[in-house]
Amino acid sequence: MTQAGTIPGFSGTVLANEPMARHTSFRIGGPADLLAVPRSESDVVSAVRWAIEKSLPLTVLGNGTNVLVADRGIRGLVLLMDRNLAEIRIEGHVVYAEAGAPLLKVAMQSARAGLSGLEFAEGIPGSLGGGIFMNAGTSLGEVKDSLIDVRAVTWSGDAATVPVDDLGLAYRSSRIAELGLIVVSARFGLRPSSKEEINAAMERLRSHRVSNQPHWARSAGCVFKNTERGSTGRLLDESGAKGMRRGGAVVSVLHANFIVNEGGATAEDVAGLMREMAELVLRKTGVALTPEVRFIGDWDAPVWDNR
Ligand SMILES: Cc1cc2nc3c(=O)[nH]c(=O)nc-3n(C[C@H](O)[C@H](O)[C@H](O)COP(=O)(O)OP(=O)(O)OC[C@H]3O[C@@H](n4cnc5c(N)ncnc54)[C@H](O)[C@@H]3O)c2cc1C
Repeated sequence: MTQAGTIPGFSGTVLANEPMARHTSFRIGGPADLLAVPRSESDVVSAVRWAIEKSLPLTVLGNGTNVLVADRGIRGLVLLMDRNLAEIRIEGHVVYAEAGAPLLKVAMQSARAGLSGLEFAEGIPGSLGGGIFMNAGTSLGEVKDSLIDVRAVTWSGDAATVPVDDLGLAYRSSRIAELGLIVVSARFGLRPSSKEEINAAMERLRSHRVSNQPHWARSAGCVFKNTERGSTGRLLDESGAKGMRRGGAVVSVLHANFIVNEGGATAEDVAGLMREMAELVLRKTGVALTPEVRFIGDWDAPVWDNR
């Protein structure tokens, strides 16, 4: 149901009781009480201030490619930063993009302009905002290598520009939640390079991914972070995790750090399977795994205790 006019000053779409399975790459997740899709920074400010006034919990999502949303869904207001907030502009060596722009699209437009620094984004299906929050990356680099600053709305409803050094970007993590920030746009400083070299680097990444990952399947990419022992996919594989199953959730036979929803998997199936995988690796190798996927919404107690 569309609830136009629910949030004063908000020009985007507002949906009530919206199934989050429609907005996650796992295709899993119960309903959000309210889901608002902003078109501008001022929409984000209006939504945040309204949520504060109504004492509603606030959740921010991008393209939903690194989250496991609870079967009971999400209480309060979800702000979905998607293609309605997705301008990309290139000025000299600086790329400006809004949070809902697909990270890969930002990388491809930069490549076309002969600007190097975002090649690593080949095959990452998330939004720019989610990419910054996760400090997304691959063997070719990560967001923090070229990010200059972000424009953000604070959880108290004020807008601010925050330099990259204040965001605490580290391996697949940031201090953005701790700082109470919603990323609205960002600037990257790139280097001029030959388009052929940029495209060749992206093509190498693409062909590696196509043969090593179930990139077409309903998944959230790697569910666990790598550890000081290197690739967690390899640790899981050597521990015998491939093919483990719970309900409709199965550990990919192509890449042992991917859980695939083969159809009808619940969030509980995936979380339960993750616990079994982590227990297996701990038993076989002594290494404790940390989830990369973010648990969002109305779960019983903390889903994981070492995050
Ligand atoms: C097939 C596949 C392959 C993948 N490969 C890779 C890979 O190679 N490397 C890699 O790093 N990741 C990979 N991922 C994971 C995922 O795509 C990235 O983590 C991506 O950056 C998440 O972006 P998103 O927009 O989907 O974020 P979401 O999943 O929507 O959100 C992730 C987190 O970011 C927060 N967030 C989102 N947007 C904002 C915002 N605007 N402001 C503040 N907080 C925000 C959310 O609250 C949440 O906690 C892969 C996923 C899939 C499905």
